[in-house]
Amino acid sequence: MAETMQFKAEVKQLLDLVIHSLYSNPDIFLRELIANAADAVDKARFAALTDDKLTRDWKIDLTIDKEKRLLSITDNGIGMTAEEVKENIGTIAKSGTKAFLENLKDAQNAGAPELIGQFGVGFYSAFMVADEVVIETRRSGSDAPAVRWSSNGTGEYTIEEIKRDEVGTTITLHIKGDKDIYLENWKISEIVRKYSDFIEYPITLPFTKTNEDKTTTVEVRTLNSQKAIWLRNSSEVTAEEHEAFFGHLAHGGKPLSTININAEGTNEFKALIYIPEEMPFNLFMPDLQKKGLQLYVKRVFITDNCEALVPDYLRFLRGVVDSSDLPLNVSREILQENPLLAQIKRSITGKVLGELKKMLERDPDKYKKFFKEFGKILKEGIHLDITNQEKIKDLVMFESMNGQPGELITLKEYINAMPSEQEHIYYIIAESRQLALASPALEIFRSKGYDVLLMTDPVDEFIMQNMMQYDKKYLKSANKGELEIEKDPDAEEKALEEATKQHQALLDYIFEKLQDKLSAVRLTRRLTDSACCLVGESNSISPQLERLLKAMNQPAPESKRVLELNPNHPVVEVMQKLIAEDPASEKLAQYTELLYGEALLTEGSPLPDPLAFVKNVSALMK
Ligand code: ADP
Repeated sequence: MAETMQFKAEVKQLLDLVIHSLYSNPDIFLRELIANAADAVDKARFAALTDDKLTRDWKIDLTIDKEKRLLSITDNGIGMTAEEVKENIGTIAKSGTKAFLENLKDAQNAGAPELIGQFGVGFYSAFMVADEVVIETRRSGSDAPAVRWSSNGTGEYTIEEIKRDEVGTTITLHIKGDKDIYLENWKISEIVRKYSDFIEYPITLPFTKTNEDKTTTVEVRTLNSQKAIWLRNSSEVTAEEHEAFFGHLAHGGKPLSTININAEGTNEFKALIYIPEEMPFNLFMPDLQKKGLQLYVKRVFITDNCEALVPDYLRFLRGVVDSSDLPLNVSREILQENPLLAQIKRSITGKVLGELKKMLERDPDKYKKFFKEFGKILKEGIHLDITNQEKIKDLVMFESMNGQPGELITLKEYINAMPSEQEHIYYIIAESRQLALASPALEIFRSKGYDVLLMTDPVDEFIMQNMMQYDKKYLKSANKGELEIEKDPDAEEKALEEATKQHQALLDYIFEKLQDKLSAVRLTRRLTDSACCLVGESNSISPQLERLLKAMNQPAPESKRVLELNPNHPVVEVMQKLIAEDPASEKLAQYTELLYGEALLTEGSPLPDPLAFVKNVSALMK
């Protein structure tokens, strides 16, 4: 008996978006349905490796019935049970749905609806061209009865048991009144050639020919060339073909760069790897993401979820790896542990990092485009891949104090621009460029003409913990630890010692007032314009990270910091005078609180008690 069911709420929302939005290219519905069919055949073929009964002619057949306005896609793949249909089609049974819907809205606003497949919901694109979609399917290797699922895409679907002998799936679309074009053989052939040419199973379509005697004959033609693009000579593959293949792998978008690997010897494999032009929307949604590289063994698809193939920090790559030496008939889990796979991973990682370096040297503009999209992810490698750390250090870029907003430089470029007496590489961690530049800690660097790298990415702080050195130079935080700035350090150090002696009473006074918040109060050469700043101990975490950890309910070591004062600043001079005249003066206490507030505000930290701060300001203004 047919059962009528409601779509889950998020599916309704999704259908609404799909159906009521203007699509720049509805053709892609067929790419998505053929991709699903090919996936299903891949799965059946994989199962057939260990089950002889399942072997047969893998294929995907299309048919058109112009009169009834039907277009159907039939595969002899794995099929689905009723439960699987409900699970896969009636729900978006993956986490991150809400985030994904929001992203989808953005994507749609950006005029890029082809990206829908990235979210693992390619099936729904059928409703762009059809007012009713019917799925008939029977699961291979199971006794479960066959099922029919149908829906007009408006919130409900029906599901019922049917009789069907063949395993596999038929998807039938009732084509909308204004979408006649998808009932034309030439149009369907064109779409298949454009988007699905390299699918390795034949995609067929019957063509009816009228003979001279007015009788008709039906000829079933194969529409795709079935050439595995990664096995072809790379010089023969055109940019259009790469684009189509990339679109198939990534469900939209274009490749920025193509990398071919042809490894010979004891571990033979071929790889075709793309660096995408843009960040796929699903990259930060682990459950929705199809893992970057597909693994084939001797042209048989094994898995698209092979973590052992590329390191995490290259997870933006898309492509295919086809091995000749991995065993075919073992489980995917065991395969993941095969040492050959680890070798393939090493070789891919080395090659990709090498290609990125070449791109940086030969086409810096292209590289910057890449880095702006994926730099955040690549940088994680410094932390995660100790073996390749040095290579990745060559590839990372940062904004700098002396550069324009958005202008990126490498560590090498930074070093090349250093004045001869500068010994270390300096950086500052802050939430934004603006806050970094406002930091009083940068004053001394400005006055000396040193540049400072601006680290405004949340991952930067983790990474810097593994970036002790580059090219034999230490990386030093501009606002942590005692200032180590060269140029006659002895003389300057002496002067500072002298000043400290003179200011000792003031320093002690301030520390006593603020000792629950500070670990010390001292004079500094760091400042030229500002009166004060807060600096961390050399091994402390930044206030940004501290806030981030707290926001994530993570334990954050409460780090007390050092208040540094500029002995030449008029405010400090006034305070020095006040303490000499009357250490109990109320004004001095107010100045002390204000000084601390100022130091917090300039680094972008919130005031613990804004009201008290304002009262102090008003009192002094009177
Ligand atoms: P995706 O393919 O990205 O997972 P879809 O919405 O296109 O998302 O498909 C949802 C799921 O439905 C698939 O993952 C698959 O499990 C199932 N499915 C779709 N089409 C078929 C088919 N022709 N044969 C078997 N299963 C299918």
